[in-house]
Amino acid sequence: MSVQQRFGEGHRILVSGGAGFVPSHVVDALLARGCTVVAVDNFVTGSRDNVAHLAAEPRFTLVEGDLAEGLPADAALTERFDAILHMASPASPTDFAKLPVEILKVGSAGTLALLERAVADSARFLMASTSEAYGDPAVHPQPESYWGNVNPIGVRAVYDEAKRFSEAATMAFHRFHGLDTAIVRIFNTYGPRMRPDDGRAIPTFISQALRGTPLTVHGTGSQTRSITYVDDLVRGILLLLDSSETGPINCGTEHELTMLELAELIVKLAGSDSRIELVERTSDDPEKRRPDLTLARTLLGYEPQVGPEDGLRRTIDFFAGSSAAE
Ligand code: NAD
Repeated sequence: MSVQQRFGEGHRILVSGGAGFVPSHVVDALLARGCTVVAVDNFVTGSRDNVAHLAAEPRFTLVEGDLAEGLPADAALTERFDAILHMASPASPTDFAKLPVEILKVGSAGTLALLERAVADSARFLMASTSEAYGDPAVHPQPESYWGNVNPIGVRAVYDEAKRFSEAATMAFHRFHGLDTAIVRIFNTYGPRMRPDDGRAIPTFISQALRGTPLTVHGTGSQTRSITYVDDLVRGILLLLDSSETGPINCGTEHELTMLELAELIVKLAGSDSRIELVERTSDDPEKRRPDLTLARTLLGYEPQVGPEDGLRRTIDFFAGSSAAE
């Protein structure tokens, strides 16, 4: 299966949350194809630094605005868009506790505002959903047909349920308005431009390894994650965007690591002498998470290409460079 490129030179694309970690890499990839890109961000978890390298790029505009209030009134947003990628949302576990209402709003009011704009523009709408939609899964690995095991009142619920609402809204607009939509369920992704203090395991472990402080592994460290390098995810997202698939389609990698293995690998790759310390496990932390990639493979021809050693090395280099620059 090979997907023909559908969006490129001459196409206008709106990327919500475009100054964030993953979305800023999507922006780069769309610009590299010749698209014109407008990013809307309120910088709640993103940063202008992530798109600072695009300051002189005439095909890129960054608009400041909170999507929970709808689309901001800005000249860059008046012309029609060919595609809208809804990627705005705080996404790290520390954000779930710090920004619960903001997460619920951008995943509800924000999603509806962008869906309505997509209808008005007859644009393709791509929703960045998450493996968290599966909650603490009772099925392993997770195929898209699995409905999940989510605690609707737990600390993670603000994020899980906001994304599940966004998926429901996307399908409602597809069914009732005939909107051209796509849902991607993104699994744990890492790479340059992550925030060192965002509470996710990889940036935390890398920061600790570079500082020479102990790597704090939750519980026994036996819980597993499959980790995806951001370049692989971006390729998957653009394949889905170019296709006419509705999804949801999982995007990630199948290779599973225990948290302990991940910590040990980061210590080795960073050349650190940090030790590993086991600390209390957070509630609702899923035991296992791994995508079933059958749909991504068969419908999109997606195949992850960057292994953990290579991806982690590139991420460690980025973190080492950022801390040296401070
Ligand atoms: P991020 O926090 O770096 O990026 C999100 C961006 O959205 C930030 O720039 C933030 O400022 C912006 N934003 C948040 N609320 C907003 C609002 N109300 N108005 C305007 N902008 C707003 O996070 P990320 O890890 O890059 O995640 C990007 C998207 O991918 C999110 O939707 C997330 O749910 C999804 N996702 C990411 C992962 C992952 O492993 N990184 C996994 C699953 C899903």
